Amino acid sequence: MSNVSGNLFVVAAPSGAGKSSMISALLKRQKERGNPDSMQVSVSTTTRAPRPGEVDGVHYHFVDEATFLEQAEAGEFYEWAKVFDYYYGTSKTVIEKTLASGVDVFLDIDWQGTRQVKAAYPGVHTIFILPPSTAELERRLRDRGQDSDEVIAKRMAKAQSEMSHYGDFSYLIVNKDFEESVDNLEHIVLAQRLRRAKQQIRHQDILQELLAE
Ligand code: GDP
Ligand code: ADP
Ligand code: 5GP
Repeated sequence: MSNVSGNLFVVAAPSGAGKSSMISALLKRQKERGNPDSMQVSVSTTTRAPRPGEVDGVHYHFVDEATFLEQAEAGEFYEWAKVFDYYYGTSKTVIEKTLASGVDVFLDIDWQGTRQVKAAYPGVHTIFILPPSTAELERRLRDRGQDSDEVIAKRMAKAQSEMSHYGDFSYLIVNKDFEESVDNLEHIVLAQRLRRAKQQIRHQDILQELLAE
């Protein structure tokens, strides 16, 4: 436990730009550096079906539409939105508890959800990931091999409208070279921890000693 509250980040991108891979790579780096509990990805609730390999409670909480709408009605979501043909939402209590324990939280959400989070939590840091080109975005969606041609066509059609919202975000990363993009993400995240307001809580003992009369 820590008395420094964690930072909240939104990482958004058109589907296939690489955000899930980048966030996973960053978490892996932190683990390798012996810092495994400093960051978490929020697990959203969704009405879409699990993809091969996706695990309930790990990648998403998979629920049916009636359950989702009940939870939304009960105010259990920090934000929620309909993306493509499905509902997606972020649980309120989980985020609040995690931040309070000093852990940074990443929200992998769309631009509609980002607007709601910015309104509810003005201190959020917003990051948008772009692919290096349209052709490369399509190639990545195909190579991932998880979606049908029909779904890929739909996501490509939606990519441009998603990317048109990049102006809502504070940071932009063009994910061309993967390792460099993860470096960039890491710099943004670590820089927030060095903000004076956070550091003065974290290092109050040192400050007290240094400034003692
Ligand atoms: P991906 O695009 O390949 O990462 O596919 P996903 O199914 O994981 O995500 C689909 C879309 O839903 C993305 O635009 C996500 O950013 C968005 N999304 C996922 N979780 C949430 C959430 O909790 N809230 C909101 N607003 N959007 C979410
Ligand atoms: P998103 O979460 O944004 O939908 P993913 O992280 O699933 O995207 O990445 C989509 C695909 O592109 C994956 O197969 C991933 O391995 C690949 N990918 C991600 N970043 C790069 C990169 N910089 N260069 C080449 N391929 C990449
Ligand atoms: P996918 O079905 O490919 O996992 O996600 C589709 C889109 O829904 C992505 O753009 C993803 O960021 C978004 N998404 C996933 N979870 C949430 C969520 O909890 N809230 C919102 N608003 N969007 C989400």
